[in-house]
Amino acid sequence: MTTNPMDVIRMALDREKVAYRRYTEYARSATEPAIRELFQFLAELAADRSASNFEAYYWNDMLSMYRDGRSRQTPCPFAVDSFVLDAYGDMYYCLSERKIGNCLAAVEKDPNSSHPCSTIYYDPENLAFREALTRSACLHCNSGCFVNIGIKKDLKKHLLFLATRRSRQGQGADG
Ligand code: SF4
Repeated sequence: MTTNPMDVIRMALDREKVAYRRYTEYARSATEPAIRELFQFLAELAADRSASNFEAYYWNDMLSMYRDGRSRQTPCPFAVDSFVLDAYGDMYYCLSERKIGNCLAAVEKDPNSSHPCSTIYYDPENLAFREALTRSACLHCNSGCFVNIGIKKDLKKHLLFLATRRSRQGQGADG
């Protein structure tokens, strides 16, 4: 039986999610220098704030997730309007979660289907699944895939992030 490489990737991502949850629980109470150094490094990445550096928002968010246990705030394009399509025709809203259909199977089932991907993408059950994700898995997801695009889709968050920094600087605080 041929193994779909995407299944292997998804298995690895599932393991990463478990590791992330364990790590977050551990990091909140850990005092080891290595953990403090990691937080310091993330803080440095987050401090490099400019209108064009969208990653700073993401790194600041990861710092809050790992250190404080806060839920993810970074917008993710896969929760908005993107999807993954592999060479086998399998479709996913994102690779951290289960597939939502197979566009080749959809064509086999209905040879007149001219927009199989759209049909799968906009299937009400799939949309409900994606909506549920934003209230569950997304809150604990550390995926950095295409965060530049995701943050551009929700610029208000980024502008607020920059404004907060500037107002703190104006008050003489360092971050
Ligand atoms: S935040 Fe994570 S789980 Fe949610 S859509 Fe994005 S990649 Fe998937």
